[in-house]
Parts: sequence; C-alpha cells; structure tokens
Amino acid sequence: KTPVPSDIEVATAQTPKNVDDLAREIGLQPHEVDLYGKKKAKVSLSVLDRLKDVPNGKYVVVTGITPTPLGEGKSTTTIGLTQALGAHLKKNVFACVRQPSQGPTFGIKGGAAGGGYSQVIPMDEFNLHLTGDIHAITAANNLLAAAIDARIFHESTQTDKALYGRLVPTKDGERKFSPIQMKRLEKLGITKTNPDDLTEEEVADFARLDIDKSTITWQRVIDTNDRYLRKITVGQSPTEKGITRETNFDITVASEIMAVLALTTSLADMRDRLGRMVVASDTKGRPVTADDLGLGGALTVLMKDAIRPNLMQNLEGTPVFVHAGPFANIAHGNSSVLADKIALKLVGPNGFVVTEAGFGADIGMEKFFDIKCRYSGLVPHVVVLVATIRALKMHGGGPKVTAGTPLPREYKEENIGLVEAGCSNLKKQIENALHFGIPVVVAINGFATDTEAEMQAVIQKAREFGAFDAIICSHWANGGAGAADLAQAVERASQQPSNFQFLYDVKLPLEEKIETIAKKIYGADGIELSEQAQGAINRYKSQGFNDLPICMAKTHLSLSHDAERKGAPSGFTLPIRDVRASVGAGFIYPLVGTMSTMPGLPTRPCFYDIDLDPDTEEVKGLF
Ligand code: ADP
Repeated sequence: KTPVPSDIEVATAQTPKNVDDLAREIGLQPHEVDLYGKKKAKVSLSVLDRLKDVPNGKYVVVTGITPTPLGEGKSTTTIGLTQALGAHLKKNVFACVRQPSQGPTFGIKGGAAGGGYSQVIPMDEFNLHLTGDIHAITAANNLLAAAIDARIFHESTQTDKALYGRLVPTKDGERKFSPIQMKRLEKLGITKTNPDDLTEEEVADFARLDIDKSTITWQRVIDTNDRYLRKITVGQSPTEKGITRETNFDITVASEIMAVLALTTSLADMRDRLGRMVVASDTKGRPVTADDLGLGGALTVLMKDAIRPNLMQNLEGTPVFVHAGPFANIAHGNSSVLADKIALKLVGPNGFVVTEAGFGADIGMEKFFDIKCRYSGLVPHVVVLVATIRALKMHGGGPKVTAGTPLPREYKEENIGLVEAGCSNLKKQIENALHFGIPVVVAINGFATDTEAEMQAVIQKAREFGAFDAIICSHWANGGAGAADLAQAVERASQQPSNFQFLYDVKLPLEEKIETIAKKIYGADGIELSEQAQGAINRYKSQGFNDLPICMAKTHLSLSHDAERKGAPSGFTLPIRDVRASVGAGFIYPLVGTMSTMPGLPTRPCFYDIDLDPDTEEVKGLF
C-alpha cells in the first residue's frame, strides 16, 4: 500500500473549488457572502433571520478519550465524518471547527486542519491568517489594555476637576456626555444629564475609576509563542512619571475577547458582553468593566467582521465553518455558537452539523454542554468519542508517550492486555457523555500499527460500557470512505431520543458547581479550596457573579489534576488553587494547578521546516 504523504502534500494536491460556487451549492445568497479571495468567505449573520423557520439539522459533537500529548485525531475525525456524511451518504453536512493559534503553528509540530485525507483546505491559509479574526482580537484586546494603563496614569496626575473637564469636553459650544458615559452615570445612580449640574462629589465619582492596580486581570496579548513576555514591566519611559507596573502578555487565543466571540449569539449580544468584561476591581472592591472605561462600542467596531463565520471546504468539497478558537483550559475550547447555529439552518432538518470540542470529554465536552449549549440553547443529538489504540495502551500502563520522540515498542506491537486495561478511561469518558443524556458512538481512529484483534477488543468493551456503537475508522488514510460506517452509526444514533440535561443548575453556589464537576466527571472524592480560591469565590458572589457556569482549567492529560495519572484515577481530592472570572464571556474559571497562558518556543521549532516556493507560491513544510 502506498504510504500517506505529509499533510501539506495531501492538502496542496487538491485544488479547492471556488468558494462562491460552494456558497451557492449550500444555498447562500450572494449578498450573504463576502469573499476573501477565491477560497474563503465570511458569511453574514442575516442568514439566521432568513432561515429562522427552517428546522435545525442534527447536532453532533466530536470529543475524545483522555489523549496522549500527540492528539488522538478529533479534528481529523470531525473532517473525515463530514466527508463521509456529505460525499458518501449524500447528506447536507457542515463541519464547524476552531481557528488555530499561530503560536503552535510555528512552535511545536501539530496541525489543526485535520490530517491525512481528512483535512480542511487550503490548510496553509487555515493555519495562518485566515481572514484576520485573531488579529482583530489582538487589536481589541490591546486597545483595552492601553486604556487601563492610560486611565491610571491620567487619574494619578490630574485633579478631579481637570480630569472631569477633559473627560467631558465642550463640543459645538455645548458640554455633553457621550452615550457610553451616560451608561456609567446610570450605573453610579446619577440622573443628571447636564455635565455642569454635577456636585463636586459626583464629579469625583464619575471622573475616577480608582482602579486597584493589584487587581488588574486584563493582560496584553500577541499570537506568538514568546516566553520573554510572560512577565514584563510597563511604563518605564520618563514620560510615564515613574508609574510603572508589572504585567504580562498572554497568547491571543487566551484573551477573553476570543471566548466572547465563541459564545456570542448576535451583534447586540457581543456589544453587551464586550462592555461587561471585568478588567479589575476599584479600591472599594467594585468590578471595573470595559464600559466603565468607555470602550464597549469601540471594541465591537473592531470585532464587527470577526463575528461572521469563515466558510472553507474539506478535501472532498463539503463546507466547513472555521470560527473562533478559545484556549481549551482557561476558556472553554469550543468553536463558535454562531457558526453552529448558521450551519444547523443551512443543512436543514435532514442534515448534520459536526462540531469539535477540544481535549478529552472531561474537558471540552463537559464545557460544550454546560457552557456552550447553555448559551446557545441548542440541543445536541450524538456524541462521537474518538479513541486510539495508542492512547488506550498508555492508559493501560504503557510507557510514557512524548511529542517529538519515537513511540516505544509497546505501541507498535499487538498487546491486547494493555488495550483492555486502558479501557478504564474509555469507560469513564463514555459515562461522562451519558451523564448528559446523549447517545455515544465510539470512533476508533485506526493507525497503521493497530491490529484487528486490538480494535475488536475495544468494540466489545465500548458496547459493554453503554456506547450506542463502536466503529473502526480509516478516514486519515482513506478520506470519507474510511468513515462511512461511522457516518451510518451516527445517523442511526441521531434517531435515538435525546434526553439532554445539564450537569448542574447554575443557581447552585459556586463551590457546589465545582464539586459536582470534580466528583461526577473527574471521579474525585471532593475538592479542596485554597485560601485564595475561597477568597475569590466570596468576592465573585458578593459582586453578583455566582450564577455563571464553571469553566475548569485542568490538565487534559489525565482525568485527575495530575498529568501522570492515567486510566480512570480514583481516591483523589481536586485542589483548587485560585478562581478567576470571565464575566463578559460568561463563566467562572477555577484553576487546578498552574496554567501557562503564554507558550514558549522549543529548541527546534517548526519554523525551521517552513518555506515558500517562489515560483508556485506554495507553502512548504507546514506539518
Ligand atoms: P486532535 O484534534 O485530537 O488533537 P488531530 O486530528 O489534530 O488530533 O490529529 C493529531 C495528529 O495526528 C495530526 O498530525 C494527524 O495528521 C495525525 N493523525 C490523526 N489520525 C491519524 C491516523 N489514523 N494515522 C496517522 N496519523 C494520524
């Protein structure tokens, strides 16, 4: 059998059809499509209104067992399954996937467009700038960061009156508040509309945000793995009069604005969420928001194009939305609500939308249900749980798997004992999906080294554990044809009654919600809150943020908090180090251990292999 060429070779060997042809095929009208060249387009949110009476298609989420550091093929399966449903079963179908960060693209090897014969194309454009959404987020995020430090500077160098005079300038001979300033007056309970009528006390209240510098949670961002920005000092020029501050950069996809983009349901909703984002507390302990800084409107303007999903295609010519890519630990790791909603209308009641949730089912899938579906109101029909023989062997006690080093012998030879032992993880993750009342189809993503007996052992176990079915797939090597059986099983499962339910009631106290996830999903005996975590919880409760869903920031390499514990660990207490809030995106995120929000570059980053052929303009060496 001929070996499968590299991802970029497979991807560039296939010429994508013109995206306007694709748009027409799927029923989009010309005014709903903004072309970005010939292969990508942005789709207008007005489609939702035009198709509001069309029933939604079936909604399928792809997740996985706890992975090795190499990834077990969720993206590849998302694309392979849609290729099978579309090109082979002749269904209307859409894949909805995340836009990857440029950090990992140039850092540690690993694509996000799928792999082998199941990919989004053109994969170089997919992995790089796409249509600039991530750049827009960087711009919006950093405008807010600049506004915070500038405001602190101005407040510390000017008197109340001078500050007020500059905040409310004379325009056309008349002193006037801007609409966003009126919002702040309302928040302060000041009903006057003439700037000259405010008392001295009201002037001071309005002019000063009194940000407590030690509470600032808003960081600058850049979409590059740049470890030297993990801790910096800003304000060192003499023009800032000694008002310096220690801060840091995060990678752009960790920005709350990315999570807002992923969870928003309309332009008006995005405006509200961006304005609600809390950046710090004031010296009295009250939350300071982007709207307090006067920025909700300007941020929305910077994000107005980014809110529209990006249309691309897979290797077999069926449509893909690439939209939003929030970090999967401190944020919820799922593509956008809007892309899923538009896709569900476009495919119609007999069609399928396949969306991917990052990391294992304990993380991405739990957040898909409890955060994304809670905000979208969408009801999913099927969970596809990707499993690989290599990950099961690792869970069964196989030697450590490390990215960039060859797999140990155990992973290349038949070893049914290791596979069966590792099925403890499969069992727990199937149970996790069943907590939400959705049927589970296990997709065994076949590798060249897997044996028939190993895969049959997994099928038998999966059925025993309550999966609707378990299917061997070869879409990485064979494209959609290799996932035809999976597509049929998904179709059968989608006809099962769905008893969808959330894991917890959002009205429960924050501690109880965290404990529910720890016990039911991770298998912990309970949780242990540090003093800092309890303090943060008390603060968020008093600020009125108790009723937000929970977004756990935990390692994806184990069901527990310890990446080294494989299988289905038990007898552990989950330590909660700290608790933070993304109020605009709409979740509270407990930190289980330390989470890096700025990756670094390895000694030999991927960029050594990347180059451009000047004659064909083809990108070389991208995975
Ligand atoms: P995930 O989305 O779970 O992180 P990906 O789909 O991105 O995983 O796959 C991770 C890597 O593994 C990709 O480089 C992909 O090409 C490769 N891969 C996936 N499935 C297979 C397979 N069946 N055989 C060989 N390589 C595979």
